[in-house]
Order: sequence, then structure tokens, then C-alpha cells
Amino acid sequence: MHLDHVGIAVDDAAAASETFRRLFGLPLALERTVEDQGVKVVKLSSGESFCEFLEPLGPDTPVGRFVAKRGGGLHHVCFAVEDIRAAIADLEAKGVEMIDREPRTGAAGLPIAFLRPESAAGILVELVERKG
Ligand code: ZN
Repeated sequence: MHLDHVGIAVDDAAAASETFRRLFGLPLALERTVEDQGVKVVKLSSGESFCEFLEPLGPDTPVGRFVAKRGGGLHHVCFAVEDIRAAIADLEAKGVEMIDREPRTGAAGLPIAFLRPESAAGILVELVERKG
């Protein structure tokens, strides 16, 4: 597994990503609103990995509640795997409780699944299936 991206919750994804583009020279990789997750996503490339800025579409969304409670910051880390179903089975065999026992489609159109933070040192961890 390698680190695919870090997800950072912010009030304003355009402003935060613009700051990272200016300071660190990270090019824009993706900009998308995901209505069913209540979030606007702006992704910047950093070599093989990404910085993913998450802006809530409203206060009553998962990221909106996170920002209200913690004032933004690191929201999740995501590891890339070759075979997401095999990775889920392996983690469940290790006693991990999955939020998504079945993969769903993420903002980039790839299969994703989240682990329960209680199973991973209190950190929200996402898996993404990325071949090669
Ligand atoms: Zn993510």
C-alpha cells in the first residue's frame, strides 16, 4: 500500500487549494462537487500522491459537522491498493470494522471504501483501488 492522498477539511476549498498551488507549486488534478457526500472536492497533484481539499456544501453534512466541531484540518488519509475487495477482506480478517464493506465510487470515479476510525487508531482511513 502507498499513500494516495490526504483529505483536508476546509471552509473554502478554492482558497485553500490556491494557497497550496502558490506556495508549493502543486498542479490542479480534479475539481468536483459530490452532491451525495455533501462536499466540494479540489485535488492537487504531488508526485504520485494528492492533497484533497474538502469543502462542505452545508453544515448538516459529514464534513460540515467535522469543520464545526474541529475547525477543519486533517480529515482522512487514503491508501491505494491493487484489489480493494481483497484489501477489505484482509482488514476484516484483522478485526477491522469497515464503514463500506462493499466498495463505492469516489470523486475520481475509482472504487473506494472507508474504515471505521475506531479500528485504525482514531484516524479515518480510506482505500482506493488504483491499478499499477
Ligand atoms: Zn479521500
